[in-house]
Amino acid sequence: MKKFATRAIHAGSEPDPTTGAVMPPIYQTSTYAQKSPGNHKGYEYSRMRNPTRHALQTALADLENGKWAYCYASGMAAIDAVLKLLRPGDEVLASLDLYGGTFRMMKLIFEPYGIIFKFIDLKTPGLFEKSITPATRMVWMESPSNPLLRITDIAAVTQIAGKKGIISVVDSTFASPYLCNPLDLGADIVMHSVTKYLGGHSDVIMGALIGKDENLGRQLEFQQKATGAVPGPQDCFLVLRGLKTLHLRMRRHCENAMAVAEWLSGHKKVGTVYYPGLPTHPEHELAGKQMRGFGGMVSFDVRKEAGADAIGTMEKLQLITVGESLGGVESLCAYPPKMSHATFSPEERENMGIRNTLIRLSIGVEDVDDIITDLDQALGG
Ligand SMILES: *Cc1c(COP(=O)(O)O)cnc(C)c1O
Repeated sequence: MKKFATRAIHAGSEPDPTTGAVMPPIYQTSTYAQKSPGNHKGYEYSRMRNPTRHALQTALADLENGKWAYCYASGMAAIDAVLKLLRPGDEVLASLDLYGGTFRMMKLIFEPYGIIFKFIDLKTPGLFEKSITPATRMVWMESPSNPLLRITDIAAVTQIAGKKGIISVVDSTFASPYLCNPLDLGADIVMHSVTKYLGGHSDVIMGALIGKDENLGRQLEFQQKATGAVPGPQDCFLVLRGLKTLHLRMRRHCENAMAVAEWLSGHKKVGTVYYPGLPTHPEHELAGKQMRGFGGMVSFDVRKEAGADAIGTMEKLQLITVGESLGGVESLCAYPPKMSHATFSPEERENMGIRNTLIRLSIGVEDVDDIITDLDQALGG
């Protein structure tokens, strides 16, 4: 098998057989001519299959060491597709550290349909196994988690799940396939918000599911066709373009984030720094084993007692943009209590360890000196 950097550039992209075009064309078409009814070249209607989307799905399956991939109109649409594999009465054990939108969909959309969700600390050894009941059908992990960058031992969880016939799903958005391949650790389905590192340029909303199990693949393929939350060909083209530099971007994201995390750790107005690359991180060793780098996300608490305040600091940023999302080439900054995690109650946030002093950074690929200079002036030196 070719190395990652080579696959990131070539997977799914054969020169176009009719023209030799090196990039897959944007097949901006809804339908395809048939010689006679049912006699066609594999494409009937673009909700079911589209050549540009097919090229992207092929590339994503390759990069995650999977057999199939399906792309969706957003990360949330991908999560929606996974949860529709369940039936009333089925139970999901989900990680406590969870993207706010995932929690919201589970509680407010799927719970009313009779699916049961239990949120547990999947990092505590043994707790997952003890929480399994005869109704447990799925385990939902997110690693690294948002916004505290906690790491779940994916291999340990999938081993238990596999023995009990429980579908294991990993939201691997923060890692990207460059840093971690959950299928190799035994997961059944990897989910990505393609919007983030895979797209990489803050210009597309998209989601993806990748796996190896043929039965799950067939169910998801049928569902994609039957429910139709598919991305358009133009967006698929943009992500194919983004993938070609995934390895270069991720390497720089990791380098810059490590430098920022180390710098923040020595700042008098900064409390805890949450970054898996720091030896002080509770799962530092596991992250080193499970991932090929520590990623581009860094969160930290400002120290109230040193006169720092999270929102005030963010308002002073000049280079780093305050905004939702992450994983683009530019540095972004978010305040989880009022942004990504506003759905949770103050008690739930407290329970998760998300305080009102928390700032989440998506470290971009700019020159790291300029990123640090901006943080320094915003923190007031
Ligand atoms: C952004 C994000 C999602 C949702 O994806 P969208 O593309 O915004 O719909 C899900 N999980 C994680 C970890 C995310 O960061």
